[in-house]
Amino acid sequence: MKEFQRESPYPMAPIEDAHRIIAAHSNPLATETVSSLTAYGRVLAEDVAAPEAIPDVPKAAMDGYALRAADGLAERRVLAELTAGMLEGLTITPGAAVRIMTGAPIPRGADAVIQVELTEEHDNILRIQSPVPVGNNIHTVGQDIALGEKVLVRGAVLGSAEIGLLATVGCTQVSVYRRPRVAVLATGDEVVEPGAPRSPGSVRDSNRYALLAAVHEAGCEGFSLGIVHDDPDAQRQAILRGLAQADVLLTSGGVSMGSRDLIKPLLAELGIIHFGRIAFKPGKPTTFATIAEDRLAHADLAFAQEHALTVPRLVFGLPGYPVSSLVSFEVFVRPALRRLQGDARPERPCVRVALLDAIHPARDRPAYQRVIISWRDGRLVARSTGAQGSSRLLSLRGANGLLLVPPGEQVYAAGAELEALALGAIEVEASSV
Ligand code: AMP
Ligand code: MG
Repeated sequence: MKEFQRESPYPMAPIEDAHRIIAAHSNPLATETVSSLTAYGRVLAEDVAAPEAIPDVPKAAMDGYALRAADGLAERRVLAELTAGMLEGLTITPGAAVRIMTGAPIPRGADAVIQVELTEEHDNILRIQSPVPVGNNIHTVGQDIALGEKVLVRGAVLGSAEIGLLATVGCTQVSVYRRPRVAVLATGDEVVEPGAPRSPGSVRDSNRYALLAAVHEAGCEGFSLGIVHDDPDAQRQAILRGLAQADVLLTSGGVSMGSRDLIKPLLAELGIIHFGRIAFKPGKPTTFATIAEDRLAHADLAFAQEHALTVPRLVFGLPGYPVSSLVSFEVFVRPALRRLQGDARPERPCVRVALLDAIHPARDRPAYQRVIISWRDGRLVARSTGAQGSSRLLSLRGANGLLLVPPGEQVYAAGAELEALALGAIEVEASSV
């Protein structure tokens, strides 16, 4: 029987060092050209400029009549009707006008549009209630987008507005960063499939499914490597299988001090461990390693070569406790996955919140406590999700913030202010609307 190791050989990396080390290994992946119109969620790998001004010709901004402002209040003859998309060779001479619909090009000679509500027309004779200035209701060339204007820059995430911009400037193909492929492996003799029969003491594998969902939310292609027992050969084989197919491997469990915690020695054998512990809570044993492709000697690398997987591969050994595993993912893995995709803003925003409950720090390490952030009476407030145990997944339910609590003995009273990472939408409380 293997003896307990009583002291970890790995120093605890401060949070900032851990971030810096991971970021140094998270370079944007190769780019690929995709159809812009369906590229929702992707990250642009190039700047996009408008090849034409928008609008390209002056257009009516309202339904009404295009006329010459200098004619003042005089009656006009109505020559024709122009609708959006019509480009007639018509010229508006003094005393003339055309009926014009929103979006229709302004005919030559006209320099203003009067909206229909301010007019009367009988037998093709137009009367207007008030004179209009030159340029009235005319949508000028380049008013929305100037010729050559940079509409999007490299590193931008394509949301609905960005897809609309690509469509409007006629950019149907665009260069984006490849999505990282992320393999997720659960370890543990006690860990079972959530749908499988369970013996007393076993634990349903929540980590692998929660991590796969988080990987997907982070814009990556995730795939499962299943559950592997606490056996070094089985774990080595699973790690190699994962790294043959993925840019990034996430493991769950097996990184603490137990006799069956095998992940760290295996990563040390296969590659370089950059840190084996982080000075934070929950998730102290979180481990980060890189593994060169030539160390994957036993794996079939045809897939890796075809997909140009990143070299070296990144491995995050995440803790087994469900909260530790997800919080560690959120704080350390997610920014790396966003960096691999070239996201110009890989970090979650950090906000200042006022506490609604007293918060007890950890004595020796900064802690990320789960909170619900909302907007109340003109400021952001944070309510604790309750008991913060590393196994209590309920502490993450509904949490849209991770409160950064500095270590120490003092209690932060309700009303004190701390920083928090904002993970999602912030609700406005009814009383404060
Ligand atoms: P370990 O870090 O492997 O010692 O795991 C610590 C604890 O986390 C275990 O005792 C389990 O209760 C729990 N755990 C480990 N793996 C998982 C998993 N995949 N899903 C849910 N809980 C897990
Ligand atoms: Mg374990």
